[in-house]
Amino acid sequence: MTAAPPVAIRLSGTDLAAALRQRSADAAAELAASGTPPKLAVVVATDDESSHLYVRSIAKAAHKAGLTCDVVDLGTDASARQIRETVTALSDDVTVHGIIVQTPLPSGVATRDVVSAIDPAKDVDGANPASLGRLAAGLPAFAPATAEAVVALLDHHGVALPGRDVVVVGRSTVVGVPVAHLLLARDATVSVCHSRTADLAAHTRQADIVIVAVGRPGLVTGEHIAAGTVVVDVGTNPTDDGKLVGDVDAEQVGRTAGALTPVPGGVGPVTTALLLWHTVTAARTGEGA
Ligand code: NAP
Repeated sequence: MTAAPPVAIRLSGTDLAAALRQRSADAAAELAASGTPPKLAVVVATDDESSHLYVRSIAKAAHKAGLTCDVVDLGTDASARQIRETVTALSDDVTVHGIIVQTPLPSGVATRDVVSAIDPAKDVDGANPASLGRLAAGLPAFAPATAEAVVALLDHHGVALPGRDVVVVGRSTVVGVPVAHLLLARDATVSVCHSRTADLAAHTRQADIVIVAVGRPGLVTGEHIAAGTVVVDVGTNPTDDGKLVGDVDAEQVGRTAGALTPVPGGVGPVTTALLLWHTVTAARTGEGA
């Protein structure tokens, strides 16, 4: 009789997300009772349906946890100046504690020009380059929620980080670069791979932990992953039949990896929950300031 193929442990984000949402709800109730109801503002300027779906899911989660969530929809004709002025006004509004600028933005509007107007104290998705700079310098800052969700998920499942070899695939300022900084701060040894990396599999096969944030379904296959490796799949790629798949070929990698995050149900729900947690944290800080 042949032995059954090993099956990777499923690193679900569902329980952690629920615990974070509960923690945010408790903090939101306390803040409301003391006269500072936490408020998140989301600026949108797109007709991209998946972006609106994502924003609706954030608003729903916020309301459920007792936070106010204002969606400011500027329409697809909004100019860079208009969006920047809106973000500046929200930064100046003392009743607003968290600000997210949803991408994509209208063509011709540079994301960096707009997000740099977010007050870093309200930058709950770590989008302002100033926040990334502070993170890199080891100073207090909000990290992009997805990057923090990766580390929170590893912690939640008891995956040790100090001294471990971690390979991050993807170098965006939203996920790859901030997650590398967060992992360095936790004493991991970090390599960052990207589209110009000569031999991706040679890097990933050496790693204890592989984090994939690329946006290409099935990029990471069984040949990229050595036995026992912990794999975090950040990718969220919609399929033609309305499903969501990651960047990792879950069937192949699930046979060799020691543990693997599911898509959906892994990093995604933790990301949304952390946006709420960051907003109540910002409200608490503002209250005490
Ligand atoms: P992005 O800005 O497009 O960056 C993609 C990165 O992947 C780039 O650094 C690119 O390298 C690299 N890359 C492209 N092809 C590659 C290849 N063949 N081999 C190695 N690296 C390659 O994407 P992103 O915003 O970081 O998002 C990545 C994925 O995460 C997407 O699926 C997105 O939907 C998902 N995501 C999920 C969440 C969540 O909450 N779960 C949040 C944010 C993003 P270069 O720099 O050389 O071009």
